[in-house]
Amino acid sequence: MAHIKYRSIVLGMATLACATGFARANDLPDIHVLATGGTIAGAQASATDYRYKSGAYDVNALLKAVPNLDKLAVITGEQVASIGSQDMNDAIWLKLARRVNAVLAEPGTDGILITHGTDTLEETSYFLSLVTKSDKPVVMVGAMRPATAISADGPGNLYNGVAVAADPRAKGKGTLVVLNDTIHFARNVVKTDTTSVQTFESLNRGPAGRVHTGKISWFEPMDRKLGPASEFSIDALDALPRVDIIYAHANMSADLIEAAVRNGAKGLVVAGVGDGNMTTPALDALTRVAKSGVVVVRSTRLPAGIVLRNNEVNDDEKGFVASDELNPAKSRVLLQLALTTTNDPVVIQKMFYEY
Ligand code: ASP
Repeated sequence: MAHIKYRSIVLGMATLACATGFARANDLPDIHVLATGGTIAGAQASATDYRYKSGAYDVNALLKAVPNLDKLAVITGEQVASIGSQDMNDAIWLKLARRVNAVLAEPGTDGILITHGTDTLEETSYFLSLVTKSDKPVVMVGAMRPATAISADGPGNLYNGVAVAADPRAKGKGTLVVLNDTIHFARNVVKTDTTSVQTFESLNRGPAGRVHTGKISWFEPMDRKLGPASEFSIDALDALPRVDIIYAHANMSADLIEAAVRNGAKGLVVAGVGDGNMTTPALDALTRVAKSGVVVVRSTRLPAGIVLRNNEVNDDEKGFVASDELNPAKSRVLLQLALTTTNDPVVIQKMFYEY
């Protein structure tokens, strides 16, 4: 995309008024923004060209494009990465999580807003939900349209995201994801549409709330462990264990399972057909690798539903873990963290029911 010359974000009148920085007001909450790139920071050559480059604008440019943010909070910003979230990796997760914990530990900080690409937002948000050691709000936002697009959705998502991060009722809910006027718990949210602004859904449980122009309605409480209640800690970690996802299909062979283990996978998540099923050759290969100490989690390639333990597959006999409500991407996150504490599938099964 090097041939594309990027336009600058169009600033509205209200935005221009605060373009040199955000006014400080003592009674407003202090929200720190950590930017990582994504389409929300993306730029096109022209507003009608669907091609664009993720992560082209920095955190200051993003914040300046949102009118009246300074009425909601005192905002500070920091660039942690500038990537399309398809390039998100364990090293950036650890760096981001360390910044989240360090910033939230500062008494003057009331909450964090993270800008992120939407492709892997469901994974990063769940990872942060499991390793953040504070009750203060952590809110993630992205956008489906680049910053230069006609009807860019980023500024509205940013505005609503700051409103949620500044809301004391957002405390203790773990990482929240705010897009298209809807608030989601990180554990539940999945991306469901390649390009529509209505892409994030909490398929099994429904959203955590709604937010319209900063006005918030909260719905359900979350009954799974997160934040300070989580036993997982990144403090002593330099890296995360390798966990691969294997996609099931008709005529599936054992080849990819064996290759993953040969290449160092300590855990495997199967995106199974139906209720976490797979062909007999794949099942036999997974039984073998589970006996050798690799932890096998059965999830589903279907968008919704619960993978039941000991349903068509005898998990007790084979030493497998059933993913319960977690899709393959989120199962992989939980299994990576679980493997930092144990490789006992019985203990890990309990975690899949608790987190
Ligand atoms: N590929 C982009 C990303 O995840 C998509 C987006 O942000 O909407 O960074």
